[in-house]
Amino acid sequence: MYDDIIHSLNLKAENVKSISHAFKNNTHFYFIKLVSRGVFCPDCGQYTKKVHEYKNISLNHSIFITENASVIYKARRYICPHCSRTTFENNPFKSHHPRLTLKTVQNVLILSKDYNQTFSMVAKKTNLSVTEVITIFDEHVQIERKKLSEAICIDEFFFSRYAKNKYACMLINFKNGLVLDILPSRHKADLRSYFRMIPLEERMNVKYISIVLYDNYRDIA
Ligand SMILES: [Zn+2]
Repeated sequence: MYDDIIHSLNLKAENVKSISHAFKNNTHFYFIKLVSRGVFCPDCGQYTKKVHEYKNISLNHSIFITENASVIYKARRYICPHCSRTTFENNPFKSHHPRLTLKTVQNVLILSKDYNQTFSMVAKKTNLSVTEVITIFDEHVQIERKKLSEAICIDEFFFSRYAKNKYACMLINFKNGLVLDILPSRHKADLRSYFRMIPLEERMNVKYISIVLYDNYRDIA
């Protein structure tokens, strides 16, 4: 069991000091401590292994898609005996998303492969927010555009504080809620050139368009 956790967190057994388990509020908690290796103080260069405290960091792990489980990394914070500066130990959990493990990202991608899964279903199964799921999806997957359906829904979602376009736009088949395409921008010029690329014949098939109240969408419709 713990071997599974170690493996799916991409850890080496010799770097794990302990894993303990607790069952609370219908959730399995696994607390992980890494082997103490000490750090060099970034301020004065003094080597220290003196522990100041442990901070619980939820790795938001979804090893067990069907089970409620949470992995808590007890991050060790050292204190420099010379200048009292505190420093966290190095850890291997940093991925693209600071709170997400590689395994979680993989699970999102595996689940999203199935076209019958909606983003909110994937979010529920992986314990993430819908926005997080969409962000992961978009960073890793270029989906092929699907044909416009008779009724489409133009929805938007907050993309990223750091992206050039803060809002992205999603085309959804109104009948079954599946994604037809994701566009990185909701600007009128971008939307116009996108739809121009779709053959007129296909566009003529669209009978109903559902939009949020945003002038660009109404004009494009
Ligand atoms: Zn120091």
